[in-house]
Parts: sequence; structure tokens; C-alpha cells
Amino acid sequence: HDEELRCIGCGAIIQTTDPDGLGYTPNSALKKGLETGELYCQRCFRLRHYNEIAPVSLTDDDFLRLLNHIRDAHALIVYVVDIFDFNGSLIPGLHRFVGNDNPVLLVGNKEDVLPRSLRRRKLTDWLRQQANLAGLRPIDTLLVSAKKNHQIDQLLAEIEKHRADRDVYVVGVTNVGKSTLINAIIKQQTGVQDLITTSRFPGTTLDKIEIPLDDGHKLVDTPGIIHQEQMAHVLSAKDLKIVAPQKEIKPRTFQLNDSQTIFLGGVARFDYVKGPHAGIVAYFENSLPLHRTKLVNADEFYAKHCGDLLTPPTSDEMADFPPLERHEFAIKEKSDLVFEGLGWITVPAGTTVAGWAPKGVDVLVRRAMI
Ligand code: GDP
Repeated sequence: HDEELRCIGCGAIIQTTDPDGLGYTPNSALKKGLETGELYCQRCFRLRHYNEIAPVSLTDDDFLRLLNHIRDAHALIVYVVDIFDFNGSLIPGLHRFVGNDNPVLLVGNKEDVLPRSLRRRKLTDWLRQQANLAGLRPIDTLLVSAKKNHQIDQLLAEIEKHRADRDVYVVGVTNVGKSTLINAIIKQQTGVQDLITTSRFPGTTLDKIEIPLDDGHKLVDTPGIIHQEQMAHVLSAKDLKIVAPQKEIKPRTFQLNDSQTIFLGGVARFDYVKGPHAGIVAYFENSLPLHRTKLVNADEFYAKHCGDLLTPPTSDEMADFPPLERHEFAIKEKSDLVFEGLGWITVPAGTTVAGWAPKGVDVLVRRAMI
């Protein structure tokens, strides 16, 4: 039994331990597959039976190989990012791999979570700026909600407008919602048969899934690459549901004096270091508990209460939870202190603030969105 088992769909080596990795097959399915002689990995199984894309991730090396392939292709690149985690959505070196002639369409996902009062235009402008900083010049930037089916029509129209005679490659790191988005696209197209021709697309390969378009070209779902510096990797799936924005954020206002601290569960912390008595507004997942305390006591408070009063993480997860790192900013104009993957706090001009987040997870400042 030393022989490796392979998926008859994509050829990946079958494994039963990493649900997000290539070749993953639940034990029950493995047993059935061996009995029937038709052994598919979960991803190929879902694709064959439900026309559904399942998320899968690749190692860095395999991903680089895939990006190289895109550089040589005649492609429209649809780059999916999580609007709550731009840095965590960055694909290192993507700008070098898109090639000179391949346009990039920047798609900010999870729009449904934004408060209604936020002007969408401001956020797309910011996303474009962030992309420019990363060396990308997207031909267009749009906001969608894969989960709520917002703006999927517009996205398809944009794809049509820009692809000309190109194949369409959808790229993104894990957790940005790329699989949800592709499934939304497939659903939208089933019955309408505009862009995608066949209701069941046959071809799966190890590193990409090709969905035929109506003119002989294809939409390619590429695997996500794991970006370590994401909240998703320091928290359990259960905790992530509590801290990651799930539905429309309800702003929470605090009247603060300087030298006060707000804990965001136990996952992050805001210090109002210096400034006048002021109203600050917090935009986080509604189920994330916010806890106010005095700055002088904050370190001690965290050491004592992280895992019980300040949660998530829960006490049994504390051992694996990275220490919080402090980032201080002097605020010159009304700004958002952004905690990547979580949300932001709007702070007034003329203040000094600090944001703490798990090591590796970014804290940054941008001009206030609201
Ligand atoms: P992938 O790894 O990029 O393929 O990401 P998934 O499609 O598996 O989605 C990652 C997580 O984000 C899941 O918990 C999804 O439910 C959630 N998600 C995806 N799209 C949206 C969206 O438009 N809005 C919200 N609120 N959540 C989303």
C-alpha cells in the first residue's frame, strides 16, 4: 500500500488531513471511492456533481509556477481582494507576473459588510491607491458582494468589456471569497448562458479549473495562495466568525478621554494616547465585544483577562495566539485607524493613537471614509 492514490479528475495526490489543500478527500469518501474505483478529491467531486468551486490552496512554489504561466498567457486578470484586509490580500510580486499586456481588474469583495453611510466611491479610490502602492495599475476597480450577489452583473459586464479575445484568470489569496465569487458567477450565468456556455464544465487540472466561455475562451479559477499575515491564520474558524465582519457593520461610538484604551475582544487594542475629549467611532463586526479601560492598567488587564473577559481567543487557544504589537500614529487629519481583517476606528485630527494587532497583522492609517 505504498503506492500514492491520485484523484482521477485532477491527478492530485489524495490526502485526508488538510481540507484546504490539493487532493483533500474526507475519509468516508475515500472509502467509497476505493470501493467504486472512482476516486475523486473533494474539489473535483463537487465540481462534477454540483458545479461548485471549492477553495483550495497551493504552496508558494506551485503558485509562482502558476503566476509565470499567467505572464505568458493572453489574459484578463481578475484580482479579488478583501476590502477589510487589503494587505492580507496582496499577492507578493503579482505586478511582475501580470505581464505588460494583461489588464488587471481589481475586485474588492465583501461590500455587504460596509456601513450604509460609507460612500462606495471613497473606498474604490482608496483600493486603487493601495493597488498603485503595490505596483499595480488596475484598468478598473469595483466593489462586489459574492455572498449577497451584489454587483455581480456589473462585474460580468466589466469582464466582457475588457477581455476582448482573452482568457479570464481569477486570482486571490485564500479567504478573500474567491470561491464564493466564482460560484456566484456560475449561478448567475446558469440559465442565462451569456458568458459561460456549458452548465457542466468538464476540465479540471491540478492547479486550475477552467470554465468554458461562449467564444471558446475560458474563465480560469486559480487556487488561492496562503497569506500568513491574516487574522484567519491566528484564529480558529469559530473565532473568525466572531471577529471577521459578517454583515452590515453598525458603528459604535465612544466618548473618550486621552489615556484610555479599548480592547477589541482579545485580538487587538486601541490606545487613545493623546488628544482632547472626543467621540471616536468603531467599525467592527457587531459580535466583537469592545471593552474600555484605562491605558495605565491596560497591559496588566490584558495579561490577566485575555481568554476570559477579553475573548476571542478563548483560554485554550491562548498558547498559540501571537503577542500584540504596537503601532503608534500622530493623526493630522480626521482618519481611520485600520486593523487589517477586522475593521477600523475613526479618530479626530490632532491626536496620537496606537493600534495593537497580532504580530504580522497590519495596522495602518487612511483618510477617514465617513
Ligand atoms: P476563498 O478562500 O478566497 O475561496 O474564500 P471563500 O469563498 O471560501 O470565502 C472565505 C470566507 O469569506 C467565507 O467565510 C465566506 O462566507 C466569506 N465571504 C465570501 N464572500 C463574502 C462576501 O461577499 N461577504 C461576506 N460578508 N463574506 C463573504
